[in-house]
Amino acid sequence: MANMQPTKTPMNEQDPIVRGKNFQEVALGYTAEQARNEAERCLNCKHRPCVGGCPVGVRIPDFITRVAQGDMAGAYQILSGDNALPAVCGRVCPQENQCEQVCVRGIKHEPVGIGRLERYVADWGMAQGMAPSAPENENGIKVAVVGSGPAGLSCAGALRARGYSVTIFEALHTPGGVLMYGIPEFRLPKALVQREIDTLKKIGVTIVTNVVVGKSITLDELLAEEGFAAVFVGSGAGLPNFQNIPGEDLCGVYSANEFLTRINLMKAYDKQSRTPVKVGRRVAVIGGGNVAMDAARSALRMGAEKVSIIYRRSEKEMPARLEEVHHAKEEGIEFKLLTNPTRIGGDERGNVRSMECVEMELGEADASGRRRPVKKPGSEFTMDVDTVVVAIGNSPNPLIASTTPGLATQKWGGLIVDEDTLKTSRDRVYAGGDAVTGAATVILAMGAGKRAAEAIDRQLNPTRA
Ligand code: FAD
Ligand code: SF4
Repeated sequence: MANMQPTKTPMNEQDPIVRGKNFQEVALGYTAEQARNEAERCLNCKHRPCVGGCPVGVRIPDFITRVAQGDMAGAYQILSGDNALPAVCGRVCPQENQCEQVCVRGIKHEPVGIGRLERYVADWGMAQGMAPSAPENENGIKVAVVGSGPAGLSCAGALRARGYSVTIFEALHTPGGVLMYGIPEFRLPKALVQREIDTLKKIGVTIVTNVVVGKSITLDELLAEEGFAAVFVGSGAGLPNFQNIPGEDLCGVYSANEFLTRINLMKAYDKQSRTPVKVGRRVAVIGGGNVAMDAARSALRMGAEKVSIIYRRSEKEMPARLEEVHHAKEEGIEFKLLTNPTRIGGDERGNVRSMECVEMELGEADASGRRRPVKKPGSEFTMDVDTVVVAIGNSPNPLIASTTPGLATQKWGGLIVDEDTLKTSRDRVYAGGDAVTGAATVILAMGAGKRAAEAIDRQLNPTRA
């Protein structure tokens, strides 16, 4: 008989006042008893809608049943067999829009805490030093992966499991993509991402850092001269967008990417680090997505006295995860909604001092289906700020497309791929993740990496077809 408790078993968190001053993880995870209690809420439904709601098809009821039975090793083998980065997904996936959104328990009450259980099982597996099943026999075929974010890591893991010799080429000095340089330590501890990457290395994936494909070596050279039979491009969307308003070139204006990279990857939060980052007393973060929440909460932890989110639509349209908005509010971040910056003002030394804004109201729905924000006449106002962080989205970097003849892209830079196979316009070149979709989510990038690996396997190893 399932546990019919209507709400999710709560997970302990750091107190908001305490955590606003440190970079340690906010959510503390389940105990064994809490995990078992939550697992017993699952009905083990025959038609398994939660599995269909997961972009990588994790066999959710199967691993949850093992947790309820106390068979953690069995739960870990199922989970890690379906998902190359379970400890990451358990922490940052928007489960509320995916598996948990379609959970049968969610029809009348709260859904099963699938993400929380995923996190519990993944952490348990890591603590025991468990690794995914060993790869099949080597097949001697070399495949290159460009970029070591979730798309590249998941593609590499799935190909390696099929016996391929896989090399990931990463532009930065540390692998992990946004998981390492973007999402802050207090949401996703870097040691944990590193352990997931080490697990892939343990099964034989090679990672070469400091190689910028398109500059250090071209994609064609990888195929023609380095003996790779196919290439998967998972280079993400790391090129920040700006509003193009006056004052964006002032000292103290950052793209969210630069701001978060300095703080996370370059460890500016650590007092021993020599990475400079200018976080003034009053910080304004422009945008309403996860990136904006991360930048605002990082600014607070770096010592800012007042941090404001400036978003031109209402809270309902905010793309950030509910949990992130909730945590940001708890920590005291101010939300200036229906507000749009029009100009950033500076002093005679070129430092940011103010931001001119205008209030907005919502008009008719636009092409995205969301109501278009329009300027409210006579509502201009000025706020005093010392730092501005622009978090209004990113686009794919054009480097690889511009150095690979015949590689087709959308006007906005996304690589064009076949929907089923994720094959690009070039033979033996596949792509997925943010490089194709524009800025999206970890699990969608991972799903694309996994699907591309299956398609590459079908092309290179016809016995699978
Ligand atoms: P990336 O993670 O961007 O990785 C691409 C990698 O390719 C990078 O390491 C890059 O250095 C490398 N690269 C680029 N060009 C080259 C080249 N020419 N040669 C070699 N290497 C190259 N999603 C969620 O699901 N939940 C969240 O809570 C969430 N929060 C986010 C917070 C922030 C601050 C940001 C920026 C994003 C967040 N996202 C979140 C989105 C998610 O992180 C991305 O959708 C995901 O990382 C995309 O994965 P990817 O592998 O396609 O690209
Ligand atoms: Fe369990 Fe919910 Fe999936 Fe049903 S839909 S099997 S209750 S997690």
